[in-house]
Amino acid sequence: MTAGLVLPAAPRDDLTTLLPVLRRRLEEERAFRLDQLAELDVTDPGDAARREVAELVAAGAAIALEDIEIALLRMDIGSYGRCHTCHAEISVRLLEAIPQTRSCGAHWRTEEEALAGSRP
Ligand SMILES: [Zn+2]
Repeated sequence: MTAGLVLPAAPRDDLTTLLPVLRRRLEEERAFRLDQLAELDVTDPGDAARREVAELVAAGAAIALEDIEIALLRMDIGSYGRCHTCHAEISVRLLEAIPQTRSCGAHWRTEEEALAGSRP
């Protein structure tokens, strides 16, 4: 029936039941980050220290939000759960711990370190 038909990478069987759960977690996390960004006052002119903390939190929230948006997008296009460096399947354990991760266990650490190094 599918002879001669080139199919895109098959969705992962082990993620079929987990995917809706992870999607809900990501959507909740996105809502939380959006609330957080909306509540932060980075323009408080009276308190420079408080403003600085708010700016740091806002920057962190914006980065987290971006990761979440990308994870949700990858769920939509079907590439979720694969390492963006080596395309290996990311373990279910890692996805459960960090649903927005883009890297497998082998590349996750190096990427985190690279990102940490590139940030002020
Ligand atoms: Zn990898």
